[in-house]
Amino acid sequence: MGGTFNPIHLGHLMLAECAREELLLEEVWFIPTGCSYMKTERQNGTGAMPSPRQRLEMTELALKSNKRFCCLDIEINREGSTYSYETLEELGRLYPGHRFYFILGADCLYTIDSWREPARIFAACDIVAAVRGDSPLEEMEAEAARLREKYGARITLLPFRNLEISSTEIRERVRNGKGIRYMTPENVIAYIEEKGFYCE
Ligand code: NAP
Repeated sequence: MGGTFNPIHLGHLMLAECAREELLLEEVWFIPTGCSYMKTERQNGTGAMPSPRQRLEMTELALKSNKRFCCLDIEINREGSTYSYETLEELGRLYPGHRFYFILGADCLYTIDSWREPARIFAACDIVAAVRGDSPLEEMEAEAARLREKYGARITLLPFRNLEISSTEIRERVRNGKGIRYMTPENVIAYIEEKGFYCE
């Protein structure tokens, strides 16, 4: 499961656990992004934004209580922009014989065509696309069918609850002096407070 995780929250954790259970996955590996060429936010750790390494540390804290969750630093250690095809191909080289499932929000199905090297992404993994409660399932099915046809993609649509938590909302709440308790684990909140992230 890749993500900016700025910060990680209960939506991410519940989605990962749901995917693990439904697809009988052995483990879920969380992969915080390095520098995403699609994100404009400051990610260098200046001001109130965590650096990639600090996003990784927050993610590690959030995963501590689940033995089947772990966190990889392969994207934040890579120079330059983060491209999913590179990560997935690297995982294939490092762990031959493993089968990888890339867990994503289903909206990504509408944009993945414009990501770098989509055909190589689909060749390297199965996609698990979480369809939130209020999303139009028929439209998602049609999009998945189009991608299967075009790329031979292996895509599973995973029904998932509508959990109205986002990293954006967490950052805004902190900026406005509001609490974020129960939106992300306590140890992540403590880390955010200690470092003073998202305050300005
Ligand atoms: P993110 O915002 O940190 O979120 C990670 C995943 O969790 C997303 O798929 C997101 O789906 C899902 N999510 C967030 N809140 C949720 C909630 N409340 N309930 C259920 N699901 C929730 O990560 P991101 O910045 O979108 O990046 C996702 C991955 O796509 C990363 O690995 C990134 O590198 C990759 N990506 C690659 C390229 C490329 O290779 N060119 C381009 C773009 C993204 P939603 O987005 O639907 O919220």
